[in-house]
Amino acid sequence: MLMDEEDGEAMRSPESVQRMIEPWLPGEAITIERSAIYNFHGLLAREWRRDRVLIAGDAAHQMPPFLGQGMCSGLRDAANLAWKLDLVLREVAPIALLDSYGEERGQHVRKIIEAAIAFGQIICTVDPDVAAKRDREMLADATVAAQRMAFSLPALTGDLVLEGGGELFVQPLGSGRRLDDVIGHQFAIIGADERALADLTDLWVHRLDAFVTTVSQLGPEAQGLSQWLLRRSATAVIVRPDRYVLWAGRDLRHASKRAARLVHDGKRRPIRSSVETMPTARQGV
Ligand SMILES: Cc1cc2nc3c(=O)[nH]c(=O)nc-3n(C[C@H](O)[C@H](O)[C@H](O)COP(=O)(O)OP(=O)(O)OC[C@H]3O[C@@H](n4cnc5c(N)ncnc54)[C@H](O)[C@@H]3O)c2cc1C
Repeated sequence: MLMDEEDGEAMRSPESVQRMIEPWLPGEAITIERSAIYNFHGLLAREWRRDRVLIAGDAAHQMPPFLGQGMCSGLRDAANLAWKLDLVLREVAPIALLDSYGEERGQHVRKIIEAAIAFGQIICTVDPDVAAKRDREMLADATVAAQRMAFSLPALTGDLVLEGGGELFVQPLGSGRRLDDVIGHQFAIIGADERALADLTDLWVHRLDAFVTTVSQLGPEAQGLSQWLLRRSATAVIVRPDRYVLWAGRDLRHASKRAARLVHDGKRRPIRSSVETMPTARQGV
């Protein structure tokens, strides 16, 4: 970490980097190929779409590196946007559906940025007493330390998530294939049995080109799905193409009507501009 009194250029010289690495790899022959100064940012775009222009990845959000979630978040943006663009371009959904993209992704990535900043505060403290206390506590009880440093991905929230939804769906591995490979890039409706599908197959296939199945029809890739439904007292689940659960419950007919309306109607959002800056730690070499 670059301190106020340190000069960035001098710190990234091969000699300086060698000196910093030496205590950890004593006597090893190391070739420094590249060194750079990175600025840690906590940045979040307020506007993710203006008409036909959409931003994703680091253009929409940046975070300190402590959770390794920068690119992961960009991939989630792409997964969120891809199916919505597909529906809009095929004129299945109105362009207003794209407004849910920034709303959903903004809320989600904000929580990850906040968590990354919090981790940075633990890791990057420059107060020797605070650092010593942190180290003492971590060395004394690894379980407590692990709990304190626990991170789990936030649930997805927004208008396109109904009861029982928001978590990433499970990804069982069948006979060499993952459930994703079986479902493809579309909505999936999975019922505990035929009755749970409530004769809605035609509606889902016709209107949203969905993959509709029962657990028993799925075969080996359905491993654990019955228990997944049971744990949620659900008989059916609607999974979005980005693999977030849209809804899980017992009344698929009611949920389907609401889900189809949400997708088909979209919702227009007021446009706000600029980028929000979140207070974060300093720089690292
Ligand atoms: C040291 C380091 C370690 C990291 N580790 C992790 C990690 O472990 N896990 C993780 O998830 N993330 C990690 N990240 C973050 C990750 O690298 C970024 O979040 C990710 O690369 C962002 O991808 P992007 O496509 O949005 O943007 P970029 O990778 O920045 O790509 C943008 C591209 O657009 C190009 N471009 C810019 N302006 C223009 C223009 N006007 N016209 C045409 N092209 C243009 C740029 O040249 C660039 O190629 C790390 C980052 C760093 C720096």
